[in-house]
Amino acid sequence: MKKLTPTLFSFAKVYCNLFGHKLRVSKNITNHVHEYTCKKCGMEMTDTADGLLARLTPRFKETNRYLAKIHEKRKRVFFAKAS
Ligand SMILES: [Zn+2]
Repeated sequence: MKKLTPTLFSFAKVYCNLFGHKLRVSKNITNHVHEYTCKKCGMEMTDTADGLLARLTPRFKETNRYLAKIHEKRKRVFFAKAS
C-alpha cells in the first residue's frame, strides 16, 4: 500500500473546498471593483463588471489595470472640477 503524503498546498485546497476561500482584498481597482487573494491557498479572484466574482486570469488583470487607469483619470477630473 502506498503512503499518502499530503502537502500543505493540497490541505489548503481541501480546506477551501470545505469551508470556502478566505478572501482578502489585495487591490482596490475602483470603488466597486477589487482584487482578492485567498489567505489559505493564495488563489486570486476579482470583481467583474457584472458584479460577479471571477478567477483572476491574466485577461482580467489586464482589464483591471485599464479600469484603474480610467478610474484614476476620472478622480483627477473630478477634483479639478470641484476645486
Ligand atoms: Zn482558497
